[in-house]
Amino acid sequence: MKANFYIESEHFCLAFDKYVIEEINGKKYVLPEKGAKSHNSTFSNWIDRYLIDILNIGKKVYYQEKVEDIEILDYVQSYGLFGFMADFPVNRYYILDDVVALRDYNLIEYEDHITNIQLEEYLKLFMPKLDNNKIKLLIQKCRKEISPKIMEKYLTPELNELLIFSKNYGEPVDMILQYSKILYEHLIHFAEKRHLRSYSPLIAVNNLHTNIDTLHNNEIGLIYGYLKQAIDLNFLVNLSQDTVMLKTCKFCHKAFIPKNSKAEYDTPQCKNKANVYSFRKRAQEE
Ligand SMILES: [Zn+2]
Repeated sequence: MKANFYIESEHFCLAFDKYVIEEINGKKYVLPEKGAKSHNSTFSNWIDRYLIDILNIGKKVYYQEKVEDIEILDYVQSYGLFGFMADFPVNRYYILDDVVALRDYNLIEYEDHITNIQLEEYLKLFMPKLDNNKIKLLIQKCRKEISPKIMEKYLTPELNELLIFSKNYGEPVDMILQYSKILYEHLIHFAEKRHLRSYSPLIAVNNLHTNIDTLHNNEIGLIYGYLKQAIDLNFLVNLSQDTVMLKTCKFCHKAFIPKNSKAEYDTPQCKNKANVYSFRKRAQEE
């Protein structure tokens, strides 16, 4: 079965113009800088860049090369934070529940089964600067937003604005690195075996909205509401093409999407270097 669909962003994806990396409670976090301004972020302007760039951070983690803070900051300044807090819960409207049930391998517990965490504790993991009182107030505010009659399609964007797109929301650097590494590992595994690793729930797209109003054109819309969703979706769509264009350079191992499906190197420089190495190797063998 072949189907037509298109991918677009929710109208409410926000990013800030400046982020910092700070150590809080012994953990390194990326957060919006104090006084930073938020703006709409539609990743579609960058086509596949947000996917390639995170894969190449993952490539460094995978090969145990050092990832500098500035590389993380450059990434989030371009595309915003990932939205892990909205992505991990199995209960999509977790803010309504006292306990958050987290999907498998959620980068907090790394268990291959659903794990539970108290809501307050969960929010504090991603809003490390808020004290207990402020967390309580935030929960009350979110629940109040929900209580009047609101169409469900507006609910997630409204809640996201108070949660993953708020100025208090941050993500642990280590979590970003782990996620990027997992994506890259999947890519090289796929390149070798033509299938994903046997159990890959973390990169399955979670909580996706669909637009069926456009079905009269024989197509449905897949609407992502935060960056991780967009990355996961784009990644899987790239791997499900008849000809998979997303690949890694045979010389430097970076991820890239060439124009020509036969290309093996991401840059002419890598191609030249690979030729020089193979020439030397042959010369040595003779
Ligand atoms: Zn290369």
